[in-house]
Amino acid sequence: MPKQDPKDRTSGFLKKNLETLPHKKRLEYLNQKLRGIIQHAYKHSIAFKNKMDAVRLKPKDIQTIKDLEKIPITKKADLVELQKKNPPFGGFEGIPISELKRIYVSPGPICEPGEMEYNELGWAQGMYAGGFRPGDIVINTFSYHMVPFALHMVDNSLHRNGCIVIPTGVGNTEQQVNILKTFQATGFCGTPSFLLNIAEKAEEIGFDLKKDLNLQVGFVAAEMLPESLRSKLEEKFGMVIRQTYGTADIGCLGYECLGKSGMHIPDDKIIEIVDPETGKQLGPGKTGEIVATSFNKIYPMIRFGTGDLSIVTETPCPCGRTSPRLIKILGRVDQVTKVRGLFVHPGQVEEVASRYPQIEKYQVVVTRKEHKDEMTFRIELKEEPPPPEKLKDEIERTIRDVIKIRGDVEFIPRGTLLEGARKIDDQRSWE
Ligand SMILES: [Zn+2]
Repeated sequence: MPKQDPKDRTSGFLKKNLETLPHKKRLEYLNQKLRGIIQHAYKHSIAFKNKMDAVRLKPKDIQTIKDLEKIPITKKADLVELQKKNPPFGGFEGIPISELKRIYVSPGPICEPGEMEYNELGWAQGMYAGGFRPGDIVINTFSYHMVPFALHMVDNSLHRNGCIVIPTGVGNTEQQVNILKTFQATGFCGTPSFLLNIAEKAEEIGFDLKKDLNLQVGFVAAEMLPESLRSKLEEKFGMVIRQTYGTADIGCLGYECLGKSGMHIPDDKIIEIVDPETGKQLGPGKTGEIVATSFNKIYPMIRFGTGDLSIVTETPCPCGRTSPRLIKILGRVDQVTKVRGLFVHPGQVEEVASRYPQIEKYQVVVTRKEHKDEMTFRIELKEEPPPPEKLKDEIERTIRDVIKIRGDVEFIPRGTLLEGARKIDDQRSWE
């Protein structure tokens, strides 16, 4: 089979009118969608009605995104509990179960409804923004069994983009390589680590990844994508790889465009970044928990707490899409420590350390002295001689840049820190 003509993968939009809405218009659009889903969910989802009744709210009390703060956050653990009491969906479903096409079962166990007509926009937007185009032949290597991602979300979204799906599922690496070659498939959907397995298997067989295969675009999810792995894979195959973020409960919550400057929030979701302790919204540039609301009438998730931490930016993106972007996923809420009113996450600590190759081991210790929090970076260096004062100053500056609060650096002798010690040791006592 001959190689396909190269498509223009660099420009255009899946839903131009939505994707290029000016800021104020976008807010109006989202507020209007929000009022609609609140009305629908209150009427049709028992679980949502209970949630509103518990805090004495009526649908009319929720007019704007700011009003969402009044509604309690539903965590994954709450969802599991409620589903146990009231299977399969805990009363979160917005239509009678008899009208569904499928019931999916994810680890937890936690169930998700599969509607007759899949309408979610987010994943499809992500594919388009990442360069997928009509006529692409795509292997979908996510798992097709039990869980909704491959069959429901990815397969339908590829179809929406006019792509032809080969539902290969997970595993069978050698067969996947042969399928890629035989059909000259242009797209890959799966985890980055599985794409690496495919690359290694193809090389082992003796294929030239660029000449014998024809992969041009990759849509990856479900795993962190280190930049080093991305560039390695892009280089090996001569392809473009973009990542997406979301959950089985609520769908896509972010997708990268070719600009690779964070993950755009899809137009069928509202994302709030909140203080995990108070549930109050934080503005752009502040680290907090991702709390999401979907407009899905079949399974209206209103204020679903993902447990993931991120920062939102509203700075313009070169791609022309105007939706805000999640800068990146910083880690899990249950790993954060609050120091002087700001959240400090192990990922931020790692970020500081990664800028100094001289650092062998490190630990952040948080203490309290005269009712004030103190943060100390205890560092073991690779070289033993006394470290220059300059290095201490430099690292302290980086701490201020990355974590936004002041921290002291203390160099300690090699071997002081135990293997497997916590990255952040909170030694404060609150008596
Ligand atoms: Zn963009």
